[in-house]
Amino acid sequence: MRRVVIAGAATAGLSAARALRQAGFDGRIQLVDSEPASPYRRPEVSKGILEGRIDETTIRTPWPDDLGLELVTASLRHVDLGARTVVADAVTLPYDGLVVATGSVARPSPFQQLGNVFSLRSLDDGMRMHQALAGAQRLVLIGGGFIGLEVAAVARKLGLHVTVVEAAEVPLGHALGADFGEHLAALHRDRGVKILCGRMVSGIHGAGTVESVSLADGTHLPADIVLVSIGSVPAVGWLASSGLDTARGVPCDRTCAVRGTTDVVAAGDVAHWYNPLYQRHVRVEHWTNAIEQGTYAARRLLGKHDPEGFASAPYFWSDQYGMRLQSVGSTTGYDETEILSRNGEKLLVAYGRQGKLICVAGLDTGTTVMSYRRLVSEQATMDAVRTKAREKEDTVHS
Ligand SMILES: Cc1cc2nc3c(=O)[nH]c(=O)nc-3n(C[C@H](O)[C@H](O)[C@H](O)COP(=O)(O)OP(=O)(O)OC[C@H]3O[C@@H](n4cnc5c(N)ncnc54)[C@H](O)[C@@H]3O)c2cc1C
Repeated sequence: MRRVVIAGAATAGLSAARALRQAGFDGRIQLVDSEPASPYRRPEVSKGILEGRIDETTIRTPWPDDLGLELVTASLRHVDLGARTVVADAVTLPYDGLVVATGSVARPSPFQQLGNVFSLRSLDDGMRMHQALAGAQRLVLIGGGFIGLEVAAVARKLGLHVTVVEAAEVPLGHALGADFGEHLAALHRDRGVKILCGRMVSGIHGAGTVESVSLADGTHLPADIVLVSIGSVPAVGWLASSGLDTARGVPCDRTCAVRGTTDVVAAGDVAHWYNPLYQRHVRVEHWTNAIEQGTYAARRLLGKHDPEGFASAPYFWSDQYGMRLQSVGSTTGYDETEILSRNGEKLLVAYGRQGKLICVAGLDTGTTVMSYRRLVSEQATMDAVRTKAREKEDTVHS
């Protein structure tokens, strides 16, 4: 293998490039990306950039000059898996190995496009919305997911009236369960955010610029700025003619090899891989996963990977009101929860399935959530988790 093309020069793509070099690959590495500003710390888009706490220069991560990488700024159009070529605008790039790391894009808005209606994915989105927030008073957030709630916290800090409209009965209930979701809803309500759950948006209205949001139950919410935050979809448009079924992302086996190939791997938000830990295909939109999977996928290309597969208990964080919400693992299919500790707004919860630990989530609990990662990866018994939590309490109180 002498020539590797990496599609997407962001978190997963650069992690793969770094890992290729660390594993001794001295051939040509070309990274292709359409976003000229890449790479940057995308999580800061809904935090420091939106708030105006950090600027364009501080969000950027320096290009790793020491790795001898080539950056091709172009839009990926097509891949021919048989001929081993990638087409990006007018350029055709042959490869011996290909890393697909094109991430995800905001789910397209089903509503009318008007001025001051945003989606939040790129640095440019974050900077434009920051400017618009400065002249606005009433923000309506469509979707109470992680990004929606982060934006609610930032907008309150900036002094706006904030309303969150969420279709589910509890914000983040699907990800963290009803109790944790209620805890977060209370956190926001206590700081003046209006949270409307179990409500559907029917339209966005205005003449040129947004003026209101209507709900299916007839409610009209005045708004001079709106964020449509209804999830993301894998960035797979350029793979449409590849012959791959990309409905759920790029289909991969347990080793991140793209189905039917040995010279193509995928990593990060775009990869739909068989996670041996959960024994099912998953797609994970977390920063840390993009780094870890990028590294694994690169080693897979070189045949230097763990043959058991990329078994991962994904880690996620979100910052709201100066507190860090974290989770490790996946709550999918949980049948029991255990509150490991609760102190004011601080909360630590374990999720179990059939007596085994599958996830730990915490709010404002420092490094505690991460300290459970090994137990989550080992699918320890819930009893072992209770014991560890008690020991920790004893240490704190003795
Ligand atoms: C606003 C926001 C806040 C977030 N906050 C957190 C957080 O607090 N914690 C956390 O764990 N995760 C967070 N995430 C998720 C995290 O940022 C992603 O999981 C991570 O960036 C995924 O990295 P990636 O390399 O797979 O994809 P991306 O970061 O999406 O990068 C993909 C790259 O591919 C390029 N690309 C895509 N299609 C094409 C094409 N056709 N042609 C050329 N180039 C293309 C893009 O320009 C992009 O540079 C957040 C995400 C967003 C949007």
